[in-house]
Amino acid sequence: MAIPRFWREIASRYNLIGTKCGSCGKVDFPPRAVCPDCGRKSIGKMQRVKLTGKGTVVTYTVIHDAPAQFELQKPYVMAIIEMEEGVRLTSQVIDTKPEDVKIGMKVQAAFRKLGQEGEAGVIHYGYKFRPAG
Ligand SMILES: [Zn+2]
Repeated sequence: MAIPRFWREIASRYNLIGTKCGSCGKVDFPPRAVCPDCGRKSIGKMQRVKLTGKGTVVTYTVIHDAPAQFELQKPYVMAIIEMEEGVRLTSQVIDTKPEDVKIGMKVQAAFRKLGQEGEAGVIHYGYKFRPAG
């Protein structure tokens, strides 16, 4: 039986594995089979790359009205983070107070035990981000 796509995606997200286009060098995360810029030219040229986990906060939102599985830790911060490789992703920022999060802040991926906030939601994102340094 084939491994369902869903579980393969979890593995790549947990390990911060993306793809790099062998044609234009663009990095995508989560991994893609085909480069969105190069299309057919990139087929067979997509390489797996592990992201450094280092990034910068592009923008963020403080969530006060959290879904049930986040009840214990609200308010919390969801940020769009631009990784060193140029890809952007959305993740929770942890280990800091919401009022201390700033646009342009350097962050580092932190791998947290899955399931801490419940069965749903967080398992899709095995990483969170904390302030770097
Ligand atoms: Zn490309």
